[in-house]
Amino acid sequence: MKRRDSSWFPGASFTDEVPQGHIKRSGVVLRRWISPEGDATLYLFLRGTGPLTVYAPGATRGRIRFGGGIEPLTWANFNLYRGTKHFYLTSAEVKEDFWPLRDDPEKIAKLIDWDGLLCRHLAPGLPCDEVLALYYWSGVQLKSGVHPMVAEWRFLWKWLHNWGLAPSTEDCVKCGAPLTSARLSLYGFLCPSCSPSAEGASLSDSDMKSLRLSLSTPVSALAGLFHSDRFTAGPPWQEVNTRLRHYFDSLN
Ligand SMILES: [Zn+2]
Repeated sequence: MKRRDSSWFPGASFTDEVPQGHIKRSGVVLRRWISPEGDATLYLFLRGTGPLTVYAPGATRGRIRFGGGIEPLTWANFNLYRGTKHFYLTSAEVKEDFWPLRDDPEKIAKLIDWDGLLCRHLAPGLPCDEVLALYYWSGVQLKSGVHPMVAEWRFLWKWLHNWGLAPSTEDCVKCGAPLTSARLSLYGFLCPSCSPSAEGASLSDSDMKSLRLSLSTPVSALAGLFHSDRFTAGPPWQEVNTRLRHYFDSLN
């Protein structure tokens, strides 16, 4: 059988292209399973790689220890070895464990929830570096005090935007009129003329301005505008976050 030249093949993934040997990748632990024998199976989300299943035999026993490097939600530089069939973890250098968030039930629940979305919707072995960076910076926002619902709106909208699926917050998806107040449908934001009493709660002009502002504000300035101690993210934010999740559900 002729060997497939994966460089042109549209479905080629990272795992098709990497030769046997050692590689180093930065990324995050999405999932971890420990067998009764102490062997770990990790589902990592890696730069230049996308999601990847990696084995760490004896991770919790014997001489090989990875410390916090195999904890879910931990960011690290991972040294891997590609064998004939599988990838194996040889060492991990922890860079960020978001440990302060683990004492805050609402914030850690958000990170775990986003982790679940990544597991469900990203294809294994397909690089998705923009979403990886977005996930990291969304965690940083939670750590810096940005309201979890604001961080979630940004995370979901920008992820959809990366895939070309985000609803425009500027213009009505049906008639193209600039949006003041609006409702969010599965097809996009609709102006009052196009959606007089349709699905979804009405979002005021002020709500729409806040949503836009949160998307355009640099990460470093977000906590100044949307800190959970000072900013009340009420029903409008819940509304848009719930509806953006339907966008992901509709992809399956
Ligand atoms: Zn319209």
